[in-house]
Order: sequence, then structure tokens, then C-alpha cells
Amino acid sequence: MNRDNFLNPLLEWYRDNFRSLPWRNSKNPYFVLVSETMLQQTRVQTVLAYFDRFIATFPSVQSLAEADLEYVLKLWEGLGYYSRARNLQFAAKQIVEQFEGVFPNSYEDILKLKGVGEYTAGAIASICFNENTPSIDGNVFRVACRFLSVDLDIFKRENKNWIREKLLPLYQQTDNKGDFTQSVMELGEVVCTPKKVQCQNCPLNRYCKAFAQDMVVSLPRPRKKVSKLTQHVTAFFLKWDNQVALLKRQQNGLLALLFEFPNILQQLSREQAIMKIQEFGFEQVKWIKTRKHKHIFTHKIWEMSAYYFEVEEKQLNFIWKDLQQIGADIALPSAFKWILESEETAISQDYKS
Ligand code: SF4
Repeated sequence: MNRDNFLNPLLEWYRDNFRSLPWRNSKNPYFVLVSETMLQQTRVQTVLAYFDRFIATFPSVQSLAEADLEYVLKLWEGLGYYSRARNLQFAAKQIVEQFEGVFPNSYEDILKLKGVGEYTAGAIASICFNENTPSIDGNVFRVACRFLSVDLDIFKRENKNWIREKLLPLYQQTDNKGDFTQSVMELGEVVCTPKKVQCQNCPLNRYCKAFAQDMVVSLPRPRKKVSKLTQHVTAFFLKWDNQVALLKRQQNGLLALLFEFPNILQQLSREQAIMKIQEFGFEQVKWIKTRKHKHIFTHKIWEMSAYYFEVEEKQLNFIWKDLQQIGADIALPSAFKWILESEETAISQDYKS
């Protein structure tokens, strides 16, 4: 990259045009960690409200480390990909226990925090501690591929390393590493986007190879998407008085440790569903209604049926909660939340957890 020519226009463009986002108002590494964790798989507009609420509730690493995990998950409800929330709290505990409550200030130490990969560690180290640490997400990768006119597969590690090597000398030439990191991220998010690219507004257009070669929209070529596995799920809404039966999911895997309605990975007819809940130990049951729903995770699709029953006794192998309590205090993943909601809900999306 011919750095001398384009670095200044890029940084000037960033300083004149950057979006004022709450985590950009300071160089607090905890804020950057929370925002970058939330932004994985989630759009900025969605994250804004979650970030403000999260930081208002847990303003420091210490407050997050001491929080009840159930409450952390409740604040995360709707963002999906709940392992991010669990890792975030684990990282806060690591900072308290292993770094005496002081956020680590080197790339290597930041990388030791649970859930923090090279991208997030690079962002925190460059933005908050002015280190020469490129942070390469999909946006940065796309800008670099177009700028250099190379068609690379982002899923290959050696390609990310190659881009990192191209970026490193630029960091060494820049006084404000954080602004450089954020300028490339911002360019990829608002100008050099996957579609509707705005080359005419881009500070790099005089230097960009793909623009000169009229190759912009074809770089980088989209890679083949892995097709999603479809599973059938039957869920049971078992109501006794004003309470409903819940379970907690197992410790590992999809939606780990979150509450769920009792369910099985199988499509059941109403008659089969009645037989199944009799196997659970309920003798007298009254069917109320059935609803269907499709829930889309990152890597799989659940085709779901929910059977609503009134039961005449409580079975102690379930966790019984007041309906109001589920809405207010308990984090129920959106894969199951629709069962509580209005009839109109048809499709929901979530992320692998
Ligand atoms: S000129 Fe176009 S393709 Fe090149 S970096 Fe700018 S927006 Fe991207």
C-alpha cells in the first residue's frame, strides 16, 4: 500500500465524518470490550440501546464481575448468541482476579481474556493503548481486498495474516493507532459496504485499485454459504394456575444454561404430544391450542410446534415460574420467547450460542 499518499486523507475523513457512538466517547477499554462483544453478529443500531443499558447497570469491570449471571443474561435478552454474555462476565472476573482489577494494557494480555479473539484484542490495544495491532473483521477485510484488488477468502487464516502484514507498516507510520483502526472499520461500515458501495464519497478512491479497474462490486467474491441444518422441535407450554413449567438447558452447546420450555427434538402430532406429557407424569391435561414457528439460528433452523396445555398438578422435576416473572426477571431466548408472545410472531432469528 502506498501509505504516504492515502493515510492522511483517510484519517481526515474519519475525524470529519465518524459517527458519534457512546463507546467512542472515551478510550475506556471496558467500554470497547463490551461494545465489540455486542457488535459481533449484531448491527450498530441494535447495539446502541443494549450498550447504554448494560453500562448503566454495570459501569465497571468490578460491577460486572460481581453480578448475578442470571441478571447479566436478562440484560442480554434479545441480542442472541448468549455465550458472548457469559464470556464477558468471565473476562471481567479474570481482570479482577488475575489483573488486580486493572484492565490489561497489552495485546498479549488482552488476548488471555475469555471470548476475546485477535480482532477484539487488536481493537482494544490500538484504540485504548495505542499499540500497532491491526483489527481485522469482515469490513476491514473487504476494504483491504478492494483497495489492493485481491480476491481472498476471509475464512482462510493465511489470508487474514496476509492482510495483517499489509496493515502493520501503516500502523507504524501512524501516531494515532486507534483512529487508524476505527477509520478503516468505519469506511467498511458506511462507505465501502458489500452492496451500494459509495466510491464517489470515499477518501481512498484516488488510490484504490479495484476502483481503478472497475472491479469493486466483484471483490471479494462471496464464498459459498454452508447450508443450514433443519431440525423439528416440539415444545410444551404447561400451565398450572398462573405458573408454567420451565427447564434449564445443559451446560454446553446451543443456548447453554438458559431457561427453555420443555421440548424434544422431534415433530409430534397433538396425540403424540399428549402421550409425551403423560410420560412426564401429568395425568390430567387439557389441550388449549397449538402454534407453529420457525426459528433461525446462525447454523441451523428450528421448525417448531408449541402445544399449550393446562395441567392439574405440578411435577417437581420442572421449574415452575409465574408468567409475569418470566417476562420480567428470567432470560428466555427468543427461540422460546415467541411461545409467550402474541400470535402474530412467525419467524425469529437468533445466533448460535
Ligand atoms: S474506492 Fe470504493 S472500493 Fe475502493 S476503498 Fe473506497 S469505497 Fe471501497
